Amino acid sequence: MASSRVTIVGGGFAGVECAHQLLRRGHAARLVEMRPVRTTDAHATDRLAEMVCSNSFRSDNPLNAVGLLKREMESVGSLVLEEARRAAVPAGDALAVDRTVFADGVTRRLLGEPLLTLERREVETLPDRGEGYVVVATGPLTSPALEKELRTLLGESSLYFYDAMAPIVEATSVDFETLYARRNDSESINRNLEDTLWLGRAHSIGHARQHLNLLGYALMVNGLALHRHARRHRPPLAA
Ligand SMILES: Cc1cc2nc3c(=O)[nH]c(=O)nc-3n(C[C@H](O)[C@H](O)[C@H](O)COP(=O)(O)OP(=O)(O)OC[C@H]3O[C@@H](n4cnc5c(N)ncnc54)[C@H](O)[C@@H]3O)c2cc1C
Repeated sequence: MASSRVTIVGGGFAGVECAHQLLRRGHAARLVEMRPVRTTDAHATDRLAEMVCSNSFRSDNPLNAVGLLKREMESVGSLVLEEARRAAVPAGDALAVDRTVFADGVTRRLLGEPLLTLERREVETLPDRGEGYVVVATGPLTSPALEKELRTLLGESSLYFYDAMAPIVEATSVDFETLYARRNDSESINRNLEDTLWLGRAHSIGHARQHLNLLGYALMVNGLALHRHARRHRPPLAA
């Protein structure tokens, strides 16, 4: 395939990895990222590949699906994985990173690439077909103007973002006598709160969301206390 120029819209995880893979194959890439000209509700910096929320890439154990996926990405020279390893912090069997070191590393690597052009602007309409290949990698927080353009293009009335879809467990099906009441891995709310409150390391998710986190935590603790109280004081079953 002759070398070509590809436009990538969005400098998040998907966009930077796409640019890197094109560059290492000799193609020129134009990466268009709207931050800091325009930002999203979750991003807080102008860095490429900024992590919002958890700093964990989940398990690094090759015996499970997410760990294996990391090995597969590494086998094709993933930029995200290389920089994640460089920025890794202790997190049990998970690959968690210092998000600033990680995003700085990715940004520095791409800015040093002679075949990459970085444009800081919001894309509201997709480039014409004549301008070459276009990759849309604007993620779950695609700006409203581009989302409108995509909806028209796809003939959809709305687009959806499904965040980490965790299985739902009915509280009544859980035996709280044997359950570990506290998770303390890198993604748990307890760890997030400890980091935020006591280590003074606020997450880059904005004030409003941190407030919501705290409220959710308080409700969860209250709910657990109520549940335990109700269990202990449940009237004996009638004979
Ligand atoms: C609030 C929130 C919390 C999350 N928490 C977690 C979590 O705890 N764990 C987890 O694994 N995943 C989490 N996710 C999901 C995770 O953020 C995404 O899966 C991941 O960031 C997707 O990567 P991406 O490259 O597709 O998008 P992003 O990383 O969001 O990158 C998209 C980029 O496109 C840019 N952009 C958007 N619109 C335009 C435009 N019109 N023009 C130019 N640039 C544009 C944005 O500024 C952004 O830099 C969370 C997502 C959100 C929104």
